Amino acid sequence: MSGGCRQKPTSVRPPNGGPQWNPGPSGPGGRQYSAMNAGKSTNLLQSDYNYRERGMRTLLFTPKIDNRAGEGIISSRLGVQAPAIPFSADDDLFLIVATAHKECEISCVFVDEAQFLTRWQVHRLSDICDYLEIPVLCYGLRTDFQGNLFEGSAELLGWADKISEIKTICHCGRKATMVLRLNEQGIVVREGDQVQIGDNDRYVSVCRVHFKRGVPKAFDQSR
Ligand SMILES: [Zn+2]
Repeated sequence: MSGGCRQKPTSVRPPNGGPQWNPGPSGPGGRQYSAMNAGKSTNLLQSDYNYRERGMRTLLFTPKIDNRAGEGIISSRLGVQAPAIPFSADDDLFLIVATAHKECEISCVFVDEAQFLTRWQVHRLSDICDYLEIPVLCYGLRTDFQGNLFEGSAELLGWADKISEIKTICHCGRKATMVLRLNEQGIVVREGDQVQIGDNDRYVSVCRVHFKRGVPKAFDQSR
């Protein structure tokens, strides 16, 4: 029975007004990174929608670590949501996709918050491209609040066929490439664990100059 295989388009709808960046599927192994709040999830959901509205089936993944929208949900700031498969560090994404693909053809795989992938998982994603010939699009942050590469991001930078930058701007108007972590009082935090989701800390995208100065808002007089 292959008739019931096609997924109906869900309530996911394309956002109005474009996120300021580089659209679309870029072939196998594409990867898009940016600073925080640059519209990564919005872009992911838009690309996913483009497949689904053509009747094609996709698989979405989101790390279990990020359950801000509820486990297994990818959510954008524009209010668009889609269900996703939650994964943890020891899940074999190749196996999951291969099994689903056998039942019913998968046209594209999307991974949100791809910075949380392990090195091994990035390699398994490349196997999805190379052996199943399904494009995989990963969206995530390049660096953490200390300016260090995440494990998944470092591996993707080395292994992806294509890297695209999603542009967002600092309060000064420069391109924002870095992320500041702020505590409850709005004070910049420089020490701590790399992964800290679900607490009261906030993250702000800034340019490198304002990252160094630790100035998250537009009250900086010396810029
Ligand atoms: Zn700046």
